[in-house]
Amino acid sequence: MKQFQYVRALTQQSVLEAINKPGTKIIAGGTNLVDLMKRGVTAPDKLIDINHLPLKNITATKTGVHIGALALNSVVSENNLIIEKQPLLSMALKAGASPQLRNMATVGGNMMQRTRCTYFYDVTMPCNKREPGSGCGALEGINRMHAIFGTSTQCIAVHPSDMCVGLAALDAKVVIAGHKGERRISFTDFHRLPGDHPEMDNNLGKNEMIVAVEIPDNNFAKNSYYLKVRDRQSYAFALVSVAAALDIDNGVIRNARLAMGGVAHKPWRLFDAEKSLVGKSVSEESFKQAAEIAMQGAKGYEYNSFKLKLAPATITEALKHASGLV
Ligand code: SF4
Repeated sequence: MKQFQYVRALTQQSVLEAINKPGTKIIAGGTNLVDLMKRGVTAPDKLIDINHLPLKNITATKTGVHIGALALNSVVSENNLIIEKQPLLSMALKAGASPQLRNMATVGGNMMQRTRCTYFYDVTMPCNKREPGSGCGALEGINRMHAIFGTSTQCIAVHPSDMCVGLAALDAKVVIAGHKGERRISFTDFHRLPGDHPEMDNNLGKNEMIVAVEIPDNNFAKNSYYLKVRDRQSYAFALVSVAAALDIDNGVIRNARLAMGGVAHKPWRLFDAEKSLVGKSVSEESFKQAAEIAMQGAKGYEYNSFKLKLAPATITEALKHASGLV
């Protein structure tokens, strides 16, 4: 591993000044970044440790819940406010990684983690995300874990997070700090599709840092479910996952939120399927119709075409769980 400088930041301002310089990266839990450094995928000159910044709080606000970027995944998943008001997020977090990793990983770091495409981690293989213009090993390679939505000829990788799928479904906002102050963007606009620039995972500016995530209050707490289908029961990335949240009144769906993981370069929100559910009765038939709508535009590759069947089945099953049908 290349030698690097390590600096512990004590103020947000000092981080914003430091990340201006090329070769500088922020480290918090380090659960992905250190792996990337060991494998030679990234080789920063300087790491800014932000663990001592006051960004760990989880608080109720007038309009929702505010979660500091340094709150640990394990702490958020067990927090009473989250369990009571946003149980979908707690479920999604508990489905991710292992207890040890959740104890180190932060909310901001979870959002910034990179794809687990094996060609990205193998520095002897071509990968446009690691080395723009070098090609994509996965397009004609073993692409079982790869995307079926929003792909490009440059990259078919998926975003690996479970937490982000839950946050996308819950209309969360990302609070970003920069030299000009704070800005907020919709969670669904934070991560990017690969297009011609798969090296860019998200829309965070070079001189910016994530400071919090905010989730607006909603009526989904009673009828939420996160369903993750994976090769092992624990510590495995999603083949397909679904975050489902319903607002049900007397057996009729008033409002719905759906997002999928393991299928795209970003958490994949199912807006059209959500709309199709509004006003419908809770029934397997309505859920199957929504799943069919959700799959419009999906495209399989040699080894991942099974997701074209697995994904709608997972959507239907997640909705059945969320609604209480099972
Ligand atoms: Fe790299 Fe993306 Fe292709 Fe994987 S899918 S090899 S990350 S360019």
